[in-house]
Amino acid sequence: MSEFKADRRSNGTFKAIPLEPGQKYNFLTVLCRLRKQGHNWVWSCLCDCGAKTEVLGSNIRSGNTKSCGCHKGQAISKAMTIHGKSGTRCHWLWQNMMRRCYDAKNPAYGNYGGRGITVCARWHEFETFYADMGERPAGHSLDRIENQFGYSLENCRWATRTDQARNTRANVMITRDGQTKTLAEWAELTGIPYSRLHARRRLGWGDEELFRGKRLPQRINGGQNGAADRQALYARALKVLA
Ligand SMILES: [Zn+2]
Repeated sequence: MSEFKADRRSNGTFKAIPLEPGQKYNFLTVLCRLRKQGHNWVWSCLCDCGAKTEVLGSNIRSGNTKSCGCHKGQAISKAMTIHGKSGTRCHWLWQNMMRRCYDAKNPAYGNYGGRGITVCARWHEFETFYADMGERPAGHSLDRIENQFGYSLENCRWATRTDQARNTRANVMITRDGQTKTLAEWAELTGIPYSRLHARRRLGWGDEELFRGKRLPQRINGGQNGAADRQALYARALKVLA
């Protein structure tokens, strides 16, 4: 709360203090600027529950939008009462991961389940999720390494907010033939899919190497499910969430 009160003018309006990646407003951490809407910018934000969400800068600063939507209603209190680990932040993150992938009423569903992002079957139980990922290190949240793939051991890590901000499209800079551009720009220029360039980069390929045709090892696709798998996953998840 204090962050935005400090930005308030005496007449009650807000000073146009520029938002910056890493800043925290209520439950939202600012990741990167996405696009202009009217005379305002839309920002990508990371909610404390682990969901990424898009918010107008003015709404972040004013506190009109405090979270991805998860802090409205009873989402938290319900999540806190279910398990032996209930009340722990790790369980809360797991619950939210399941909800945004499988609960159409979840505010973040449109960006996750609605876009085909799933949780691997093994992680439908909190116990196995916890066994795979371990306790969340302080200041870290659950991050999918490849944005278009789902939640699975291969595709997830505990990351700090700075890691996540760095990992967003706008901030990955690659130099090729003496020119420095974002990875997304290079993808557009070369016609090589962004996901492939990004996966290669993660594997430690050099800047020039990124653009050559070598194939990626298969395992990078972990977490992506076929249509039949997906249906089975949904059926399972709805039981878990019931
Ligand atoms: Zn949230």
